[in-house]
Amino acid sequence: MSAITEHFDSTEFEQGGAPVPSQYLGNLYALAALLEQARAIGGGYPLRITSGYRPAADNASVGGAATSQHLTASAADFYPVGADAVEWSRAIIAAAATGDIRFGQLEVDPYGDGHVHLSLDNGVAINNAIVLVGHDPNTYADWNGGDLPPKDSGGFGDAVAETDSAESTASSNSVTAIISIALLFAILEGGI
Ligand SMILES: [Zn+2]
Repeated sequence: MSAITEHFDSTEFEQGGAPVPSQYLGNLYALAALLEQARAIGGGYPLRITSGYRPAADNASVGGAATSQHLTASAADFYPVGADAVEWSRAIIAAAATGDIRFGQLEVDPYGDGHVHLSLDNGVAINNAIVLVGHDPNTYADWNGGDLPPKDSGGFGDAVAETDSAESTASSNSVTAIISIALLFAILEGGI
C-alpha cells in the first residue's frame, strides 16, 4: 500500500500486479490528482478502479492498442460507486466546459457494464467525451453531455475489457489488415 493522494493508493492502479515503471510515475501521480478532482466534482462518490497501468502484454491480451494511455499509466477505468455513471460523467463534462477540470478523454459505457474511462490530457485528446454505443465491434459516439446517443443496434454482444476509441480504431484496422492479407493469399492461390 502506498497512498498517492487522499483517496488513491498506487496499488489500485496495478490491477495486473505489475508495478508502474519509474518512467511513468509522473503520469500516475497526475492521474491520481485528476481522479481526485473528478471525484470531488462528481459528488464525492468513491471511484473503484478496475484498470490503471497496463503492461504491454496485458494490454494486448485485452485487445488494447499500442497507443492506449493505460500503457503509460495515463488512464484509468473505474466505477463511481453509488452514482449513476452517466450523471457522474455529465458533471465532469460540465466542469470541463467551465475550465474547472481538464482531461484527455472521458468515456462512459451506459449500455454495457457502466464503467467510465478517464485519461490525462496528452495533447491529442483534450476534454473529448465519448459514449460506447456498441460492443461487438466497439463503436463510439461523440457526446457533449446532453441526451445519450442511441445504442448501436448492430452486433451488441458481451462487454469488452477495453474501450478507448483509439483502441477500437486500431483493432478494426488490424482486422481490415488481416482480411486484406487473407484476400491477397486467396487471390495468389487462385481462390477468388
Ligand atoms: Zn480504459
